[in-house]
Amino acid sequence: MAKLLKGAPVANAITDDLKRRSDELIHRSIAPRLAILRVGNREDDLSYERGAMKRCEKAGIAVTKFILPEECSGAQLSDTIQTINQDPSIHGCLMFRPLPDRELEERACMMLDPAKDVDCMTSRSLATVFSGKGPGFAPCTAQACMELLDYYGIDLTGRNVAVIGRSLVIGKPVSMMLQARNATVTMCHTRTAGLASVCRNAEILVAAAGKAGLVTSEFVRKEQIVIDVGINVNEEGKLCGDVDFDEVEPIVSAITPVPAGVGSVTTAVLAKHVIEAAERVFHRRAFQ
Ligand code: NAD
Repeated sequence: MAKLLKGAPVANAITDDLKRRSDELIHRSIAPRLAILRVGNREDDLSYERGAMKRCEKAGIAVTKFILPEECSGAQLSDTIQTINQDPSIHGCLMFRPLPDRELEERACMMLDPAKDVDCMTSRSLATVFSGKGPGFAPCTAQACMELLDYYGIDLTGRNVAVIGRSLVIGKPVSMMLQARNATVTMCHTRTAGLASVCRNAEILVAAAGKAGLVTSEFVRKEQIVIDVGINVNEEGKLCGDVDFDEVEPIVSAITPVPAGVGSVTTAVLAKHVIEAAERVFHRRAFQ
């Protein structure tokens, strides 16, 4: 039986530290606050929002929600981002992506004050992830994968890792972050030839394709570690990852469950970034 790499212990360890840090900030008259910007009412956004709000409460972070209709205009969206940028009581902003209009999404991302960019929406944050230098925060989910691997003591140096997915939200950044930790990374995508065999050759597999049941027994082997980032709804309406858990779990040595795996850590990382952004404000003020 594979070891279950559950997200809760990782998230709880992060949250305990954050509560101490937010108490310290509040004591110094800075109340950490996250702005959640949601366009429309997608069920997956609502579910993430509930998780993020619960986590922020535990970490001592206040939340202000900005909700726009699905058919909102560019002007409405930019006005909202300006409001968030100009409000000194807000330290971080989470905007649910993708937006119904991808062009609007790109423009919105570029408008956010980089100092409040706690989920890697802006090019400054992306540059930090890709260059390994700078003050930007990594995307919360990509960082959650790293936190999970670290918590369970999984050494990355010299390991062969296959990542399925090349999005700017997960696949590409997590590949860069793994490489920065001296792993040898193969980034796979829809056009990868012999996907199953590329994945089977890896010692660690990170699945972030958004396709329920993509990773079957053909993709894995004994001693492998599987990190399932996917969040999908299967034919029975149940939440599941990209990995066919029942088929893969008996073969590999460790695996994250879905739900209760990477997703739980993602909200803790979001809270961590908000606290760090608020601490930076405190340090700037203290040295002015
Ligand atoms: P995306 O659709 O932007 O990107 C998916 C990537 O996977 C693409 O690069 C594509 O090339 C690749 N891909 C898709 N189907 C493939 C296939 N059959 N074979 C090989 N490659 C394939 O999605 P995303 O935003 O990167 O999200 C990926 C998954 O992660 C989704 O299920 C999403 O819901 C989930 N997600 C999880 C969390 C979390 O906290 N766990 C957070 C955000 C997103």
